[in-house]
Amino acid sequence: MALKRYEIDELKQKVVHVKKRGMDLIRDPMLNKGSAFSDKERDEFNLYGLVPPHVSTFEEQIKRVTENYRRKDTDIGKYIFLEALHDRNEILYYALLLKNLEELTPIVYTPTVGTACQQFGHLFRRARGMYISAKAKGDFKKRINNWAEDEVDVIVVTDGSRILGLGDLGASGIGIPIGKLSLYVACAGIYPSKKLPVVIDVGTDNEALLKDPLYLGEKHTRIKGEEFYEIIDEFIVAAHERWPKALIQFEDFTNDHAFPLLNKYREKLLCFNDDIQGTGGVALAGLLASMRITKEKLNEQKIIFLGAGSAAIGIADMIVAGMMEEGLSKEEARKRFWFIDSKGLVTSKRGDKLAEHKVAYARNEKFQKTLLEVVKSVKPTVLVGVSKQTGAFDEQVVREMKKHIDTPIIFALSNPTSKSECTPTQAYEWTDGNVVYASGSPFDPIKYKGKTYSTGQGNNMYIFPGVGLGAIVCQATKITDSMFYIAAKTLANLVKEEDLKKGRVYPDLNDIREISAHIAFAVCEVAYANGIAWTKRPENLLEFIKSKMFQPIYLPYKAV
Ligand code: NAD
Repeated sequence: MALKRYEIDELKQKVVHVKKRGMDLIRDPMLNKGSAFSDKERDEFNLYGLVPPHVSTFEEQIKRVTENYRRKDTDIGKYIFLEALHDRNEILYYALLLKNLEELTPIVYTPTVGTACQQFGHLFRRARGMYISAKAKGDFKKRINNWAEDEVDVIVVTDGSRILGLGDLGASGIGIPIGKLSLYVACAGIYPSKKLPVVIDVGTDNEALLKDPLYLGEKHTRIKGEEFYEIIDEFIVAAHERWPKALIQFEDFTNDHAFPLLNKYREKLLCFNDDIQGTGGVALAGLLASMRITKEKLNEQKIIFLGAGSAAIGIADMIVAGMMEEGLSKEEARKRFWFIDSKGLVTSKRGDKLAEHKVAYARNEKFQKTLLEVVKSVKPTVLVGVSKQTGAFDEQVVREMKKHIDTPIIFALSNPTSKSECTPTQAYEWTDGNVVYASGSPFDPIKYKGKTYSTGQGNNMYIFPGVGLGAIVCQATKITDSMFYIAAKTLANLVKEEDLKKGRVYPDLNDIREISAHIAFAVCEVAYANGIAWTKRPENLLEFIKSKMFQPIYLPYKAV
């Protein structure tokens, strides 16, 4: 959503009152304009001599940082460059990110952020966010008061236990909340000063980190059981007390903790888990958009999941909510799902003790070991891959699926690209071009029999920033599944016909600000309709939401 000229001019009527002078101002990343301080500002804020003589335009600065960014020849080099920019000039950082979202997201977030987390102790330069150490149990409130900002809108918190597909990275997992919050700002215009990345350091079971002299977290194994929940609870209570309106997003907790934590807090305060609900929302949106291509109904689909972890259950729960909107009962909807985990089909009589989150979807039927067997007997319409098993949707499986249906829907969502259950090229070839395919990681457009297809990427960043923005703007008291459902439906409706024709079930990422604003609008409407918003509905809600979004442009400064 590029701002129109008159909107920029209107914004520039606003003046920022600034107390800092000289180097203090230059060293403040929220206020620094670098070589773009005007002559008037240089005079008023004692900056003459401290910056080069030429007064750069914002466009010149963007050109310079873009050039420097592209000169870096490794992804981790690009990450370090961007974080350094983030540390010295936040407005320029967000302007660059928003302008080049598709190019920069794989650096700021997955996959490169994963590498940055793995090397965190070795790359560390300047602290960002909060490190809440379990050792300080009983004293969290005091620590939380050390954060300078009285206004916080979004807290993204992890315990570093399951960072992307990389496992336990302990305190080094802080890179994930930092990256997610950058996307909140870029995609939904959350104010940079109102975001708070947090890692709760309960130790790590990662032997390599425990032995690494440069590891920056607490050097002990993970605290588990009741004590773990007490630690998280102390943090949640203290953070909620200081910032009662803030949204808390749980991120990259292992499944055994992710589900219980979400269930414990979801009715009590404004929170959600992106790995579960955000993933569910974005996958449901893709499926709803697929229905626009196949002209079928969601409640008629038979869906096999390869993988039964947090992503799988989150997606299934959200599709169940969608099927219920189309008239099925919860039980009827759940009967349309088959889950396969590392042991085979998830059934109630399989002989092992099923993890809590799988029980609701356990089938009451004969156990089958392989995906191919299940595909043969179920004849699914949709295949969802969230198993991290490269190539698991092989030619035999896909051809078997195609035997029973005109246009299979195949979502190979495992990340990174190398873990994908099948590639778009394979999916198109094995179905003779009759497939709706979406991925978890980006793929270049492909050509099949003279036609070009582009792959929609089921990226959570389509959903979570808009949901968060909506919740913050109306001051919702909680995040409900209906909010995610409506977010998914809004996103699916924003996919243009021309995208669907190319096989893309997600909209253009370059429209992300407009997308987030519309999702926020829909989320606010749910909150107002259900009486769970603290604010009164503004007359022109969409305009109001847009007016609340941070824009990465320089505003004039006035000395105070
Ligand atoms: P997870 O570790 O919680 O779950 C993985 C699941 O795969 C487990 O149930 C496991 O039993 C199962 N599995 C392992 N080996 C298997 C095998 N050989 N056959 C069948 N199942 C097997 O992980 P998760 O958080 O659920 O994420 C799974 C994948 O989905 C990851 O690659 C992640 O990057 C991806 N993901 C994509 C999106 C997206 O596209 N928006 C969002 C979230 C997660």
